[in-house]
Amino acid sequence: MTQDSTIKAQMRQLIQILAKHNHAYYVMDQPTIEDSEYDQLFHQLKALEQQYPECIQADTPTNKVGGKALPKFESITHVVPMLSLGNVFNQEDLFAFARRIEERLPNQKIQYDVELKFDGLAISLWYENGILVRGVTRGDGETGEDITQNVKTIRNLPKVLSSAQVSVPALLEVRGEVLMPKAGFEKLNAENEAKGEKTFANPRNAAAGSLRQLDPAVAASRPLAFYAYGIAQCEPNHGLTSMSESLQWLTNFGFAVGERHFVCDSIQEVQEKYEQINAERPNLSVEIDGMVVKVDDLKQQQQLGFLSREPRWATAYKFPAVAALTTVENIDWQVGRTGTLTPVARLNPVAVGGVTVSNVTLHNIGEIHRLDVRVGDTVSVYRSGDVIPKVEKVWPEFRPDDTVEVHLPENCPVCESPVVMPEGEALARCSGGLYCAAQRIEAIRHFVSRKALDIEGLGDRWVESLLHLDLLKNVADIYSLHEHREQLLTIEKMGEKSVQNLFDAIENSKKTTLAAFIYALGIRGVGETTARMLANTFQTLEALQNADIETLKKTPDVGDITAEWIIDFFQAPHNLEVVQRLLEAGIHWDAPIAPTRQPLNGESWVITGTLSQMGRDEATQMLQALGARVSGSISSKTKCLVAGEKAGSKLEKAEKLGVQVMNEQEFLNFVAQYGNIE
Ligand code: NAD
Repeated sequence: MTQDSTIKAQMRQLIQILAKHNHAYYVMDQPTIEDSEYDQLFHQLKALEQQYPECIQADTPTNKVGGKALPKFESITHVVPMLSLGNVFNQEDLFAFARRIEERLPNQKIQYDVELKFDGLAISLWYENGILVRGVTRGDGETGEDITQNVKTIRNLPKVLSSAQVSVPALLEVRGEVLMPKAGFEKLNAENEAKGEKTFANPRNAAAGSLRQLDPAVAASRPLAFYAYGIAQCEPNHGLTSMSESLQWLTNFGFAVGERHFVCDSIQEVQEKYEQINAERPNLSVEIDGMVVKVDDLKQQQQLGFLSREPRWATAYKFPAVAALTTVENIDWQVGRTGTLTPVARLNPVAVGGVTVSNVTLHNIGEIHRLDVRVGDTVSVYRSGDVIPKVEKVWPEFRPDDTVEVHLPENCPVCESPVVMPEGEALARCSGGLYCAAQRIEAIRHFVSRKALDIEGLGDRWVESLLHLDLLKNVADIYSLHEHREQLLTIEKMGEKSVQNLFDAIENSKKTTLAAFIYALGIRGVGETTARMLANTFQTLEALQNADIETLKKTPDVGDITAEWIIDFFQAPHNLEVVQRLLEAGIHWDAPIAPTRQPLNGESWVITGTLSQMGRDEATQMLQALGARVSGSISSKTKCLVAGEKAGSKLEKAEKLGVQVMNEQEFLNFVAQYGNIE
């Protein structure tokens, strides 16, 4: 393809997409993308046209006003075309707008009229001798729809003009916006919802939909309001000289104008008003999508004139985009402190909601599949309020030919251990928990905690300093710290005594139990109790390491997913290296005393009331480890009831049925005989 044809193809694609969204917005009153996304596509096309004017297509929307008159209404040709507005999104563009004006009006003082930019529907109202005779939509700017009957139902709009201050002109054409104030919009949606009828996405759609109803009774039932923002024609001439004066003049006849409007002496002041209006936006009674900046002097407006679809003397200054389009440069996988792998899209930086966004989390592989997002894709990034930005959708129209699907990596990008994701889990994880640098802090904290290897004194402060000195790459390094005594002494506030105390605590930790050691490994799903169950069941670390999934699942408390995590943990070679080093460092334990082959096998036990020395779960697990089945209700088949404080109906029933009852202490004495299951 030649360069020209590539550019033309790009333009064509944008024109088609814009046409589709124009239809949804202007004809159906049901947009499917955010306005800011539309604006970006529009600007893309405009930029291409500016760079390659020779490729401009005849049907480009950049020199047309967007809407189209619906055939169900009578068409009316506007005597004065109803134009659109150019728009700016930041201070830089605003100042450029002012510079262009100053260049055209050298040595003139320029004042700016600043108004709210109502997010509604533009209409023109035609008054003859003070009587409202016609209301017309903007349509395509040249021709609009005759909606006079509907317009007449708008309550705050004067149907007959009269004023004690000024005389009524023979002909007056007023331009303004019809919209649904926020309160009315919320009420309408609530009522519709209660009736099971369709609700509107935003006040603009609600206003447009209401106004373009064939039945004026429907429009009459909707809380619409009209706000005037300009005069298209006035005979005899009103003699006014500025925009701000015109607005004031219109209020004499009872027209509503925006809750805020200002006259500014400089473009810097306009910027200040923008910030003020943006901050006050939530308190306004109507929805706005920015403000409109107009040259205030009407003579200057005339001198400046028009471009094809917009005046040179005005621009919309829109609020920060809530959504923007950008491209995905890369997709990286980040490993969290607990080993979860999170995909992160690296974006071509883009401004969304007032901040520049260059990274967005894609959450998990499921989300990547759902969006079907690939490197090189164009995506919409969405952010509203202070919500974290997210990728809302992928634009398949803009997908380059050579993109490849994104897959979950097989190995951890940090430590190369296998990545695992048991069925039913949404998150993938690095299985190298003991070794992976990303997980090291959590792994060390867990390893030294009281119920694990209990190395009192190796607290966060020590850990931070040791990581800083690069002396702790993984938990096995704890046992070679004594080789670095001199370096440890350089750590601030760590004198001889604290270093020696640390070494002593490390030495003492070497004698432990198999259960504590298994727990210390930090295998996912293996808490303290499960670790104890595993120790009892397997008796040796080697047996646990070699157990297959079926054998693991026979251990009380170990379900499918935990069994899989255990297998995965021991299949990660780096974990095994660390375990090996720990054992070589001298960590040891006495062989657990085997429970006498599950002495309560087949028995049914019940627990009730409050236990003071343990949770009910723990008691349940103890019983299960001994082979008992723990049930929720008493029957004649119940072997024994463990009754804590405030035992109620179950105790009564057990007594009635003659079932054996133990209080908490009796129960503890009972299980103590099995030694290792305390
Ligand atoms: P616009 O809404 O950006 O600006 C022009 C309009 O501003 C005027 O016609 C007028 O109705 C209105 N306006 C409000 N307050 C005003 C004031 N105080 N003074 C003067 N005018 C005021 O331009 P547009 O051509 O009406 O519409 C284009 C915009 O519509 C796009 O920028 C986009 O945001 C939106 N749009 C969205 C989609 C979508 O799919 N989401 C599709 C098409 C258009």
